[in-house]
Amino acid sequence: MKQRSFVMLKPDAVKRRLAGEVLTRFEKRGLKIIATKMMIIDSDLAKKHYGEHSEKPFFKDLVNYIISGPVLATVIEGEECISLIRKMVGATNPQEADLGTIRGDYAIDTGRNIIHASDSPASAAREISLFFEDSEICEYTLPDEELIYEEP
Ligand code: GDP
Ligand code: MG
Repeated sequence: MKQRSFVMLKPDAVKRRLAGEVLTRFEKRGLKIIATKMMIIDSDLAKKHYGEHSEKPFFKDLVNYIISGPVLATVIEGEECISLIRKMVGATNPQEADLGTIRGDYAIDTGRNIIHASDSPASAAREISLFFEDSEICEYTLPDEELIYEEP
């Protein structure tokens, strides 16, 4: 099933100049970037985005981390892409993330794990609508879809 996922390169990724390299991984996999923008998140939006963690002891640090610089908010589309992207991202704690995953290759600390990706279709829908207007999402067909999917 075709899905959309909300993927966000966190401020550490942008400041470490890893944004292009990370997005390239998704492109090379065959996934389609359908929206992206650089923005500095305010604390209201950060708190909404991470609302499920509001009672956790790390919540304040998490909000401060995510508002500490520009992020690259992105929507990615592809077959079953929500779980596919989570696998590419790797475990929340980069020290437990497999080599070959984004966190396993580029990060060390849980509190500086460079990327966010939606964990379910419901989260994806919520997060996409939090960050993007419908008009900011671009619908288009990739010319090589039959090379990526058996049944495009
Ligand atoms: P994710 O879905 O893999 O990003 O992980 P979670 O949804 O569980 O947590 C959201 C984000 O909060 C993580 O990506 C981390 O940036 C941060 N986080 C989670 N657990 C901890 C923790 O124990 N300490 C700190 N400092 N940050 C955490
Ligand atoms: Mg999460």
